[in-house]
Amino acid sequence: MSTALRKARSWARRVRDRIAPKALVLMYHRIAESDSDPWGLCVSPQHFAEQLDVLSSHGPVLNLTQLATAVQSGRVPRNAVAVTFDDGYIDNLEQAAPLLERYGIPATIFVATGYIGSSREYWWDDIERLLLQPGTLPDRLDLDLGEFKRSWELGEARTLTPEQVASSRAWRIPEPYPTPRHAFFHDIWGCLYRSPQESRTTALRNLAAWAGTTKQARPGVRPMTAEELGRLDAGGVVELGAHSVTHPSLPICTPETQRLEIFQSRDRLAEITGHRIGSFAYPHGDFDSQTAGLVREAGFLGACSTRRDLVTNRSDPFRLPRAGVLDWNGEIFARHLAELRRGKPARH
Ligand SMILES: [Zn+2]
Repeated sequence: MSTALRKARSWARRVRDRIAPKALVLMYHRIAESDSDPWGLCVSPQHFAEQLDVLSSHGPVLNLTQLATAVQSGRVPRNAVAVTFDDGYIDNLEQAAPLLERYGIPATIFVATGYIGSSREYWWDDIERLLLQPGTLPDRLDLDLGEFKRSWELGEARTLTPEQVASSRAWRIPEPYPTPRHAFFHDIWGCLYRSPQESRTTALRNLAAWAGTTKQARPGVRPMTAEELGRLDAGGVVELGAHSVTHPSLPICTPETQRLEIFQSRDRLAEITGHRIGSFAYPHGDFDSQTAGLVREAGFLGACSTRRDLVTNRSDPFRLPRAGVLDWNGEIFARHLAELRRGKPARH
């Protein structure tokens, strides 16, 4: 091919990409106020209402299965948006659903089915409850994580005062740690993230005993029950999607475990709703080609990652990018939306 022809084709491709219809998938977790939110999972109900107000005059809003189907048929609507929630928190029913109904905006809630009806919190919330509340912990921790053991001398991380908790309210990972306890918390999170499910469950139980607490889930932080999920599904505004059973990082699981996590979460939700489940979200956004292949084999129509980008007709429906939304008011949200539309990385 001549250089001139190559240049002309590359120019034509750039023009086509610029004018091609693009959609945006937004990722939420909780609609709640929180004094401690290391992962930036919470958007306040007030801010969520303001964000929906912006979306209501933005462009067509689809649920994830509708968007995945549009990608598959090469008919992504221009300026389309899909609203998604991960995990299955109770506030999705109590706070998000009434607002979604009020604005007539559909959404997809991806549920980690092993937590349905559980009296325990999601594991990342459990360690936040154990380690980032005010109090004093023992000097030393020995944790058996199955494949490896770790020990910590806590030193200054032993104590966390109410003042330190209050002053670190706005702290979000990966900002610098406000206290040694926050560094310790993130270290424990990393160890549990890399652990197989059985080791993580045992380690969490041992961690709670070591911290001197066996408290059950905080009422506002608990996962939804099957009855509550069924009610959401019947409401018609929200569709349920699968998000594995135990919320592991799937690529580090064996192929057999990945298959169980994907297929069993599909079956549990089909049992609750009485119909087929169309979409999947990879826990932690982690997947590889084997994971994506299993999700396709399970009969889903599409799956979401957490890579920040726009969806086009050329996107792989099993690798749909998403953009996380933080606790922004309507004005800041609109600015981020415009930046995301232009393909610019949104600043926090
Ligand atoms: Zn999740």
